[in-house]
Amino acid sequence: MPEIGRELKQRDKKRTMKHFLVWVILLSMPLRSSLAQPPRQATAPEITKHPQTQTALDWFKPHESLINDVQIKLAEIPAPSYQEEQRAAAVEQLLGAAGLTTHRDKIGNVIAELRGVNEKEVVILSAHLDTVFPAGTDVKVHREGERLNGPGISDNGTGLAALVAIARAMQAAKIKPRRTILFAANVGEEGEGNLRGMRALVDAYRANLKVAIVLDGSGTDHVTTKALASRRLEVAITGPGGHSWSDFGMVNPINALVRGSVRFINTKVPTSPRTTFNLGQVEGGTSVNSIPHEAKLKVDIRSENEEELTRLEAALRECMAAGVRDEQESSRDRSKGRLELKVELLGSRPGGELASGSPVLAAVRTADEFVGNHSRLERSSTDANIPLSLGIDAIAIGAGGNGVGAHSLQEWYEPSGREMGLKRALLTLLEVAGIADEKTR
Ligand SMILES: [Zn+2]
Repeated sequence: MPEIGRELKQRDKKRTMKHFLVWVILLSMPLRSSLAQPPRQATAPEITKHPQTQTALDWFKPHESLINDVQIKLAEIPAPSYQEEQRAAAVEQLLGAAGLTTHRDKIGNVIAELRGVNEKEVVILSAHLDTVFPAGTDVKVHREGERLNGPGISDNGTGLAALVAIARAMQAAKIKPRRTILFAANVGEEGEGNLRGMRALVDAYRANLKVAIVLDGSGTDHVTTKALASRRLEVAITGPGGHSWSDFGMVNPINALVRGSVRFINTKVPTSPRTTFNLGQVEGGTSVNSIPHEAKLKVDIRSENEEELTRLEAALRECMAAGVRDEQESSRDRSKGRLELKVELLGSRPGGELASGSPVLAAVRTADEFVGNHSRLERSSTDANIPLSLGIDAIAIGAGGNGVGAHSLQEWYEPSGREMGLKRALLTLLEVAGIADEKTR
């Protein structure tokens, strides 16, 4: 379109002008920042001076194809939430082969222990086993050059492959940590898994747990330090049900649900703290000419602030109760029965935040600097929610490489750059767990 073309041309002109001005300003600036000051010496972190650390860091490169193979093997074992046993068995076998003592807790978490000299202090390195894909999904991984295509290949094939690789690298380097390290492949992170695996881990080790590092998905661009609080609720309205013509005027659960929903979606939510809601799934009724006896709705609510979340949940309950009331009051024939309302909490993920001066944050920053990586702090809903909500230091990070399309059938992963992610995770772990001195072993 000509108009658009003209607009673009003008924009181009403006842009060229802007670039020119930027250059003028840059060239006229004194070169103070880059030349006058001595270049900043990146001091190697203490932990990297241990020869064993170097051995462990050097383990990844020559084992790249082995790490890919582990990732493919694990991703090809179906593991919907609540059906992780088979994949858990495979991870347990791999961690056992890395020389660790393994066991499975009663809900199915795999726990492999590397005992530290200080057994009273525990660091967890975890990766979730489960995927969002229901049983029967084709999870075969297809290679396309460097690229690995397959549902769950990155989330959390990458995290699991890294968990095993880091355990193997540490064993190859014969590292004895100061704090006990638990390598955990946990169940129930996704959806209705509701973080049950991490809840059980934190519950079991709470007295001694100092830090949790969660490996989730790919990349090295972020550190999740803030836990996004969320709740999932199901609204169910039931009534007597009847014929669309002969029973007209009777209470209708779908009407009540719609009345309540309209009230709820008009609820004001703040942009800061960011607070959101989603009416995600609706069901009910049997046919177009029947007054339904049931209507159901699933709602997801999230907030950066726990109080806002509580307020929004209360609003949902009130609106639905009002919807039921409206429907009952406007029904022409009240003799044919009443409506019943139930609101059930399907899941709740608590919020929390890592303190800015936390040692684990300093550790990941040190690791970033050492490997030459830049990352931003992020708020998200991960396994780290559980320790963070209890005031226990925790972060979630990607395990390197490039993953795209998480939670979709088109998910893929490219391992180039994975080594940096593995080194970053290993160094962060070693920074917080420590390495025992020869004489204290
Ligand atoms: Zn994940």
